[in-house]
Amino acid sequence: MVLDTVVESIESRRSHLTDLALDIWEHPQTAFEETHAAGRLVTALDERGFEVDVGVAGIETAFVARYGDGDPVVGTMGEFDALPGLSQRVSATREPVEPGGNGHGCGHNLFGVGSLGAAVAVADLIDEGVDGTVVYVGTPAEENGAGKTYLTRAGVFDDVDAVVSWHPGWFNAPTKGSCLAVDAFEVTMRGTSSHAAAAPEAGRSALDGIQLLNTGVEYMREHVPDPVRLHYVVTNGGDAPNVVPPDATAEYLIRAPSRDLVESVTDRFRRAVDGAGLMADVGVEITQTSGAYGVRPNETLGDAVYETMTEIGSFSVADEALAAELRDSLGDVSDALEDLPPEVRDRAADRPYFTDPIEAPDAGEVGAYSTDSGDVSQVVPLGRLRTATWPVGTPPHSWQAAAASGSTGVDGMLYAAKTIGGTLGRLLTDPELLADAVDEFERRGGAEAYAPPMPDDADPYELLGIERPTFDPLDGSGADASGMEAADDD
Ligand SMILES: [Zn+2]
Repeated sequence: MVLDTVVESIESRRSHLTDLALDIWEHPQTAFEETHAAGRLVTALDERGFEVDVGVAGIETAFVARYGDGDPVVGTMGEFDALPGLSQRVSATREPVEPGGNGHGCGHNLFGVGSLGAAVAVADLIDEGVDGTVVYVGTPAEENGAGKTYLTRAGVFDDVDAVVSWHPGWFNAPTKGSCLAVDAFEVTMRGTSSHAAAAPEAGRSALDGIQLLNTGVEYMREHVPDPVRLHYVVTNGGDAPNVVPPDATAEYLIRAPSRDLVESVTDRFRRAVDGAGLMADVGVEITQTSGAYGVRPNETLGDAVYETMTEIGSFSVADEALAAELRDSLGDVSDALEDLPPEVRDRAADRPYFTDPIEAPDAGEVGAYSTDSGDVSQVVPLGRLRTATWPVGTPPHSWQAAAASGSTGVDGMLYAAKTIGGTLGRLLTDPELLADAVDEFERRGGAEAYAPPMPDDADPYELLGIERPTFDPLDGSGADASGMEAADDD
């Protein structure tokens, strides 16, 4: 009954949701600058009668939209930032729209709109008499800057009882695993410039400091627990070899399965920074640019997601020819197929898209990735899922993912909308399910221990050197009709 309403609601808006996702795909903007996507999503939610609060947690493109009143309160999240360098046409060969330009290589155009479809469907349920509230949290800057950390710290999820969210992928399954907590740092060394041949004794090389630090990091790698990951890039190593570099900068990521372990490795890293500065006789500046928890799993919600998926069943991709070409462009994907349980690998291997729902392949595992959803999962029960928006074996952040996210991916997006909407609908109407999800959350540690990974005064615009955009989507000018108004004429 609940699921029927949800599916009907999403099917009745199929073309509007598709157009919205493709429009956001055509206007890719990166972290904290996503005014086009956030504007379209805010306008659509506002038109559907959601009460929308824009610019939350000091982030212009972050927003919270609510519909209904009273308990229980269920929520979903929408990401919508693009990636630099992944500009790509809808094509089965590498073909940027704009060389070096932004592109939706992680499918966040689908992510934001799929979740919106779910929230609107739950609003329809509430109109039909279901008690409770649905919240859509617009979460900018997943790819860089960890926007959700700031939203979580600001208390956006404090009155929400459970959240169900998703990510584009190449199969349909709940995500029951955890992942790595992370801290990101920028280190700048400051030395003294001089002529590298005529007066080297007068110079102090900032690049020497960075190289000594990186040598230290390499040695540190051997003496940290196994799942710890350390990586870096040098973003400024000087301008010319005949000038002793006065400034040099590098960026670092420190990942581990727990915040405690990240923080203990971080302490050692900070000492290594000081040591490298001493050796090179240069000044050091260290700035934490972002940080996040690993995800706390919630298998109760994972099971509910799987049940909803199996009730909906499979789906087909409208443009089969393009799907097959995109799949072919990936070549051999046998490594990626290892992610699937052995019994379904053969079924997936033969098809461009694998759209049968399967059980979570990652239950009990800690994936070698990080997401700012980790922070959300520390303060509210979080159910997660992936759907098949991309051809079998497509890696995220690839041009194939970008191409599919602007074409064949919309069918998987609508499937995600139905799955999330259906699961949230169940949480509103099945108090026992919600209580079980909350019980599991408490058993795994509850919300009390959450300590925001970023310092209180951290301003992401300042930290990342991004100009704060002007953003006022509800000022009445230039708002596009979204087709998202209530299904009934009331
Ligand atoms: Zn992503």
